[in-house]
Amino acid sequence: MPREAFVDGRYLPFDSAKVHVEDRGLQFSDSVYEVFAVREGRILEMAPHLARLKRSLAEIGQGMPMSDAALGVHVREIVLRNRLADGLVYLQVTRGVSKRDHAFPATAVRQSVIMTARSADPAKAAKSVAAGVAVICVPDIRWGRCDIKSTALLANVLAKQQARTAGAYEAWLVDESGFVTEGSSTNAWIVSEAGALVTRSIRDNILPGVTRAGLLAAIAGEGYTVEERSFSVVEAKKAREAFITAASSFVLPVVTVDSTKIGTGRPGPVTLALRERYLAEAG
Ligand code: PLP
Repeated sequence: MPREAFVDGRYLPFDSAKVHVEDRGLQFSDSVYEVFAVREGRILEMAPHLARLKRSLAEIGQGMPMSDAALGVHVREIVLRNRLADGLVYLQVTRGVSKRDHAFPATAVRQSVIMTARSADPAKAAKSVAAGVAVICVPDIRWGRCDIKSTALLANVLAKQQARTAGAYEAWLVDESGFVTEGSSTNAWIVSEAGALVTRSIRDNILPGVTRAGLLAAIAGEGYTVEERSFSVVEAKKAREAFITAASSFVLPVVTVDSTKIGTGRPGPVTLALRERYLAEAG
């Protein structure tokens, strides 16, 4: 049983060490981490682990929470406080605590630095070395299961932040073939040149939005042509109207895509009618 953990700049008894409910690591996986091996009381490969931490943080738009020297002191301290001879030190750095919003906090918040230590049994490790281990092969689905409403939202966070930086409300995610999959936190729709309501099929690796399904149900039998299929960015830019759906915004008109005006460049009549219809049914 570990004895102490490092949270928010303090060493705390392991059982009472907690992170805030709105920590972005918890809410969005807006965080990175490192693991240091400890062998006979010595921390291995400190410098390359800190270098990788710095790189990971830079890739998500963050700096190091403190100097390498200060982090090194804390890694050593957690080893001492847990009387660790052989084991691991886990170090997580999150973007910090802020009111929930995919985009980065508008005003700087302090990053959360979390450190825990756990011991390993060298005798058990020796047994594995002597016997060898088995592996199985599985498909590499990392960052790929968009149908699961997972809190692993780092990619969505980075996309939403790109939208904010560009002065946009939402980022539409585009696959390798130029088709829009969905928004970073919304489903994407167009009213095509021919007047059909088009939204990607939920069989095609997107989040099955509850609002999307609710809207489809609300308008069933009302004479709309609905096409659950992929649409490209090129098709979207030529569409009569575009909109997004989500629990957070219901049916929201999109008036530009990459600065290209959609239709008249104003919320379209079909979109506004769909919003009314959805709210009448669901609200
Ligand atoms: N797509 C993504 C990636 C989302 O995160 C969300 C909502 O958070 C949606 C679509 C819309 O889903 P819902 O209508 O259930 O809110």
